[in-house]
Amino acid sequence: MKLVFLGPPGVGKGTYAKILVRKYGIPHISTGDIFREEIARGTPLGRKVKEYVERGLLVPDEIVIEIVRQRLSREDCRRGFILDGFPRTIEQARALENIVSIDAAVHFYAPMEVVIDRISGRLVCPRCGAIYHVKYRPPKVPGICDVCGAKLVRRPDDRPEVARRRYEIYYKTMKPVIEYYRSKGLLIEVDASRESAEEVVEELERELRRRGVIS
Ligand code: AMP
Repeated sequence: MKLVFLGPPGVGKGTYAKILVRKYGIPHISTGDIFREEIARGTPLGRKVKEYVERGLLVPDEIVIEIVRQRLSREDCRRGFILDGFPRTIEQARALENIVSIDAAVHFYAPMEVVIDRISGRLVCPRCGAIYHVKYRPPKVPGICDVCGAKLVRRPDDRPEVARRRYEIYYKTMKPVIEYYRSKGLLIEVDASRESAEEVVEELERELRRRGVIS
């Protein structure tokens, strides 16, 4: 199952990916996560991309494409993968085609209000990275991480006005990529506005089955 995940920040891609990873044993590859990790470890790649990532600018295509090429060549990607955060440009989409043929590009969509509601209630654990939501996934003890006991925080860019802006920017920049996959017949659109992440994933699985990607 070789998938590209598309959808605005906060729509729930990470949650859906986690369900599929558990069920199908394929890796979830997020270019943003790769960069953040390299930066935290202070590697040569990390030093190269630090400035772009910290300023929210796109890392140059040739750097990202090379990283993805290397990652997809690893053994664990043979049976499939979920690519998240890549491609971000048409050039990246074309480059991906030369690396591997994907089965589908999945666009998770939901109205802006739904996404903002999800983002602005989000709480994260600064120590172990666990993610909660005040309404949809509250911690057992308010404000405290179930996993490691640290005090939960809100990310500064999870404020509603920032979330709104990120949603708008997402569609402005990603529309060509979404249309690119539509024109190739590879686009699957999944309604991500329902509350149950399992149901969202089931809808995706039904479509993947219909297309013969899974049995
Ligand atoms: P994300 O977590 O996907 O929002 O990515 C965080 C940051 O990593 C982005 O703001 C970019 O600076 C960089 N980045 C991640 N994926 C890409 C990509 N496909 N192309 C260019 N830059 C990227």
